[in-house]
Amino acid sequence: MKFAIAFGLATLLLSTTAPAATVDEAVQADMPQLMTIYRDLHSHPELSMQEVRSPAILAAEARKLGFQVTEHVGKTGVVAVMKNGPGPVLLIRADMDALPVKEQTGLPFASTVTGKLPDGTVTPVMHACGHDTHMTTWIGTARRLAAMKDQWSGTLVMIAQPGEEVGMGAKAMLDDGLFTRFPKPDYMIAFHDSASLPAGVIGVTDGYALANVDSVKIDVKGVGGHGAYPQNTKDPIVLASRIVTALQTLVSRENDPSQPAVVTVGMFHAGTKQNIIPDDAKLELTVRSYTPETRKLLLDGIKRIVRGEAIAAGMPEDKMPVVEVSEAMYTPSTFNTETLSTHLLSLFQQHFGNDRAIAAKAVMGGEDFSRYWLADKSKQSTIFWVGGVPKAKWDAAGGNVEKLPSLHSPFWAPDAEAVISTATEAMTVAALDVLKKS
Ligand SMILES: [Zn+2]
Ligand SMILES: [Zn+2]
Repeated sequence: MKFAIAFGLATLLLSTTAPAATVDEAVQADMPQLMTIYRDLHSHPELSMQEVRSPAILAAEARKLGFQVTEHVGKTGVVAVMKNGPGPVLLIRADMDALPVKEQTGLPFASTVTGKLPDGTVTPVMHACGHDTHMTTWIGTARRLAAMKDQWSGTLVMIAQPGEEVGMGAKAMLDDGLFTRFPKPDYMIAFHDSASLPAGVIGVTDGYALANVDSVKIDVKGVGGHGAYPQNTKDPIVLASRIVTALQTLVSRENDPSQPAVVTVGMFHAGTKQNIIPDDAKLELTVRSYTPETRKLLLDGIKRIVRGEAIAAGMPEDKMPVVEVSEAMYTPSTFNTETLSTHLLSLFQQHFGNDRAIAAKAVMGGEDFSRYWLADKSKQSTIFWVGGVPKAKWDAAGGNVEKLPSLHSPFWAPDAEAVISTATEAMTVAALDVLKKS
């Protein structure tokens, strides 16, 4: 009885005179619900540009919270707007897509889902990049900011983006009027879970954070024939091999060593049988850089080397290799603007302490979050990392990430609770700061 009275009084105090819970307390109180949402999203992954269930969940949640919600922006994207008085416009983005990977984490809520790739191939699907933690954080952040409306002023534009893994989603949303049909952001913030940081540690990079990603196909033509009579053929396997070797000098001999660059030949297919010289060989490359100048040097260099090696091999003009740089698969490099990135790092250090918020190195991965800032470079933009490596695993590996599953690995099982609670807190704190009442 005594307990009941005390409890009743506490409830009364909370609802009337007690100060509002801190961001950390409010996030912690929401975590059991958020983890239920996370496990559900994790076990229902959807392939790029085929997101249907995930955006419906996010849209319904945002609507319930009082956001103005528009669905099917850029095919399957969601835009949730909350206008809350004068002030800047802040965009917060989460991506939604999963990967054609067969999950091997052994988690009780592991995905058993299959999906269809654009070419019709049936594939297992898994949230191997952790975009499920991004979506859950999006919901957690929307809840906090809706509940704390009296503590900020401005416009919040929360977007759920499709197709990040194929580099199409951000472009699709922009092409569908993200910056014309909806309030145009002054600030843009996103986060990505990290397989290179211990759980709950935030990393912020200043300047270039992620790379230009180009996909290049090379069709090396030859003149096929019998393996016993090479003099009657032009062997595309030998020519393609020379090309692969010569391409290594682009980074080692032509590129300024202070400018990061990667040229990786990830696919080399040729031939059917040991005694047949085939008609062609096919190569596929991923090419990474930060600046437009380095990107041009690498792409021009690839075309020049390919042609030069073909001439050296005696190929006639009508059998020159064909180099195709895919425009559709290009992802521009991601740039964190200095004012916002350094400010967020110090804000996170104040909030979480210096051990949990650190300056992070740039990486050669790609992210189409880049496109939002590239659409208007006068604005401020930052994507930050939130570490997901479970503490026990991090300690066992001595912090050596080579011993740990990376993003996109079938074994990537982040400490989702640490990622989501840290990211939700960080996003909320960042939004309250950017949209603080003047
Ligand atoms: Zn990914
Ligand atoms: Zn990702």
